[in-house]
Amino acid sequence: MKLPIRWKVTFGALLAVACSLVIAGVVTVRSLEQLHVVQLNDDLAAKARLVEYSLHQLFQSPEQPPPPSRIQSMVRELGSRASARITVIAADGTVIADSAVRDEDLPGIENHRTRPEVQQSLSTGHGQDVRASHTTGERTMYWALVMTGPKHGDPIVIRVGLPMMLLDHDIDQLEHKILIALGIAFLTALSLTIWLARGLTQPLSDIAQAAQRLASGSQTVPIKTTAQDEVGLLAATLNQLADQLHAKIGELSEDRAQLLAVLTSMVEGVMVLDRRGYVLQINPALERIFGIARAEARGRPFAELFRHRQLNELVEVMLRSRTNHESEIVLPLTSRCLQIEASVAGGERDNEACLVLVFHDITELRHLETIRKDFVANVSHELRTPLTSIKGYVEALLDGAKDDPDMAASFLDIILKQSDRLNLLIEDLLELSQIESGRVLFREDPIDVHAVVDRALSTMKPLAEKKRHRLLSRLEETLPLAIGDEDRLVQVLTNLLDNAVKYTPAGGTITVAAKHSSKPGAAERPGGSIELSVSDTGIGIPDSDRPRVFERFYRVDKARSRELGGTGLGLAIVKHIVEGQGGHVWVEANEPQGSRFIVRLPIGGGPRLPAQVTEASSR
Ligand code: ADP
Repeated sequence: MKLPIRWKVTFGALLAVACSLVIAGVVTVRSLEQLHVVQLNDDLAAKARLVEYSLHQLFQSPEQPPPPSRIQSMVRELGSRASARITVIAADGTVIADSAVRDEDLPGIENHRTRPEVQQSLSTGHGQDVRASHTTGERTMYWALVMTGPKHGDPIVIRVGLPMMLLDHDIDQLEHKILIALGIAFLTALSLTIWLARGLTQPLSDIAQAAQRLASGSQTVPIKTTAQDEVGLLAATLNQLADQLHAKIGELSEDRAQLLAVLTSMVEGVMVLDRRGYVLQINPALERIFGIARAEARGRPFAELFRHRQLNELVEVMLRSRTNHESEIVLPLTSRCLQIEASVAGGERDNEACLVLVFHDITELRHLETIRKDFVANVSHELRTPLTSIKGYVEALLDGAKDDPDMAASFLDIILKQSDRLNLLIEDLLELSQIESGRVLFREDPIDVHAVVDRALSTMKPLAEKKRHRLLSRLEETLPLAIGDEDRLVQVLTNLLDNAVKYTPAGGTITVAAKHSSKPGAAERPGGSIELSVSDTGIGIPDSDRPRVFERFYRVDKARSRELGGTGLGLAIVKHIVEGQGGHVWVEANEPQGSRFIVRLPIGGGPRLPAQVTEASSR
């Protein structure tokens, strides 16, 4: 992990302090050392002059040069008084006397002419040097001068030497003390630096942590700092920024949630594209319409996702022209009819909403329109047929047929029949329109199915007998009570029986049966049902026509139906009445011959359904 700023500051400051202390220590020790050496040098010079002064008398005597033993004893005496080594050297380098050497060893001392201090003094009058003594082996500081005015012979060099041991010891002690002082200074600087660095960097770490929390999107806590400097300003700014950011995020989330709620609850499919034609957003309704998943669609090019030529062209034109468009398409697989309202949203960059397409599923609308148109056409046609016939016969009567009593009677009979047919048609139309409009409310009474079947059979008996049909009743003994409108149920049964009589050649068998079924009458009404059926041994209905016989004006054989006085509305009325009471009706083939119409009625009742709700299912 990277080093925290606190330790960077601490180490940086400590390094600077340590460097300063080391430099200061070294400079101090060196300066003191030099000072000591200078002082020692001065000391030696003074001592050398004093020795020269003391020996001067000895060498100024008018007689012979002084005997070496005398010089040696005097040098020894002066050496012990001056606490220094004193050497007297002849100009040729011969050591005449030395306080640090025993008398008997003197002749054996090596020649000192090559000693630097001796050479210097012989050429300049005085000389100095620091080195390990050849004689004593100790590190020694030497100071030499040439004795002035000796009466006899060559000049004589007086040299004073002082061992550096004392000086070195003093310097060692000094260094030790300075080291301790520097150590204390360093420790003080260390604690001060840590304290200062902590005070300085703590708010910065708080700010860094807060910024991290802010970036990760987690709940942020305001940064607390009492600092009034730039750090305090930074913390305050960051707090302000976090507040603004939270407020903005909150606002945006709310907007987004509302938008999503709207998009999700919309029945219309919505799709948003960017300027390249890439899908940015689709809603659940669109997922259902096109059978694609939102996750799979987002971020993909529109043309790749929806392989529909007309749709792709529309999007291309819109992306080029940037104008709103409306269009209608039919999906090839599902045959659903979609109305598209495409508007330009104005996004000028990638991933920005540029086009919004709203898809209205108008399949039902279009279907209803077709039904309505067909219905109008059918009604016109159905009305026109008897009217044309009536008109024709009336004209024929007016043209002279009225004068022929037989012809007139026959024509008037036809006119009456056509008028009855017209009347029947209009009655059925009115009935159907009332049921469909929801104005007819079905009763919800307990119904004894036995009684209903008896009523219907007694009504139909004369007609059936006329065609020599056998009317059979096969009802289970113990049937539960159905819930519904008894009169309407009788009407349903009568219609079905009427058809059975009509579409069964003379001498057929028509059976009414009823049984208790465990299947529910309707999805929302559990608890079993009653299945009421009317079977005949008549002409039957081809498989392909069976699903359509409940449509208005649908007839398998138009001519035969008209001939038999049918309006083509009977089964449509049956279906509406049954479904209006929460039931279900369908037709099957009757084995070995004929048709069987089955009405499933709920037992225990349920909410009454307005007939128009079932419009779609009456197709
Ligand atoms: P219609 O007034 O023509 O009988 P319906 O709506 O009652 O009209 O019946 C629609 C069509 O269904 C009839 O034209 C006929 O072709 C057919 N159909 C109805 N009931 C039967 C049946 N029991 N046997 C054979 N065909 C039938």
